[in-house]
Amino acid sequence: MTVFSSPEFDQHEQIDFAYDQDSGLRAIIAVHNSHLGPALGGCRMYPYQSEQEAIRDVLRLSKGMTYKAAMAGVSLGGGKSVIIGDPRNDKSSQLFKAMGRFVDRQSGRYTTAQDMGISAQDLEQMASQTRYVSGISNREDSTQLTSRNPSPATALGVFCGIEAAVKYELKHEGLKGVKVAIQGLGSVGNQLAGHLHRAGAKLWVSDINKEAEQQAETEFGATAVTAEELLRLEVDVFSPCAMGAVINDESIAVLGAKIVAGAANNQLLETRHGVDLFNRGILYAPDYVINAGGIIDLYCFDRGKSVDETEDRIKNIATTLQDIFVASKRKQLATHTIANEQAEARFRFSYAKAS
Ligand code: NAD
Repeated sequence: MTVFSSPEFDQHEQIDFAYDQDSGLRAIIAVHNSHLGPALGGCRMYPYQSEQEAIRDVLRLSKGMTYKAAMAGVSLGGGKSVIIGDPRNDKSSQLFKAMGRFVDRQSGRYTTAQDMGISAQDLEQMASQTRYVSGISNREDSTQLTSRNPSPATALGVFCGIEAAVKYELKHEGLKGVKVAIQGLGSVGNQLAGHLHRAGAKLWVSDINKEAEQQAETEFGATAVTAEELLRLEVDVFSPCAMGAVINDESIAVLGAKIVAGAANNQLLETRHGVDLFNRGILYAPDYVINAGGIIDLYCFDRGKSVDETEDRIKNIATTLQDIFVASKRKQLATHTIANEQAEARFRFSYAKAS
């Protein structure tokens, strides 16, 4: 088992391992960088095949959160936690309480949130043991803890990002008549489809869940197509809102869209695919920039910011993207390269200023 010599290790500040005998908890918390503030990032539960696989994941994910927070303009660092276990079989209230105590021992250096394999209820169990859980509030009528769903904020951010990309690339104000292909109609994709429909966009959709497709056809006048057809459509925007690694050699070869802008994390299979998009003249909105609405929402909620301020900050994703697009053209570098450079300039040598 390697940590410091793992290829995913990149100047991470802290990696903590926890074991709890009573619940069987085996978990890792990684803080990648806290120059901009205490680390925030979700907790993922996954049946990792090996400890090395779990270490690699937590190193990679925590680093991603540093970049996301830096570009979202919030005073947060990047962190993440993983629980080694099968979410279908290994969950118990004891396990999540033990995880909550593990988070609590970080004394605020790391705040957790929801990620793959973790339900709102699991998060609420953790929150019974620590205050370092993001988006948690007490129900007004009881002492029960409830967690906030960041998906509506993520969808709003992606919508604003699409508007910015369309304005920049197609010189088109607003989205009336703009053609968008959405892959994935889950918590984010479905709400994004609603925003786009109300703005007058024409939608094509694809989801492995046929009910979600039918709902989008009925509610948003969308046209459902197969996954392969969706990629080939000669639309203005391809919006990946399902799984990662969708931008790869195979998809780039057939992609018919002029812009890639969606919510999915880690859309590029490899960083070179961002360069391929650039060389093909397809404008790519870097995923961790356009999908930061959720983290902005949690950040604002935890600090009691007003709804208006929260929305303004989410809408600012459009300005951040516009700056990236302009710099990409000026420097003749791919947009994800520019985003990485800008994020690194913000977090490598800066120290937090409260805002
Ligand atoms: P979700 O699980 O609610 O929805 C995913 C949808 O994609 C489901 O409807 C699923 O059926 C569909 N899907 C799965 N595989 C597919 C495939 N091969 N082709 C087409 N559709 C497929 O997830 P979500 O919360 O909507 O998140 C979507 C993406 O955005 C994920 O990559 C997630 O990591 C990312 N993201 C989400 C948030 C958030 O606030 N929820 C924030 C940042 C990033």
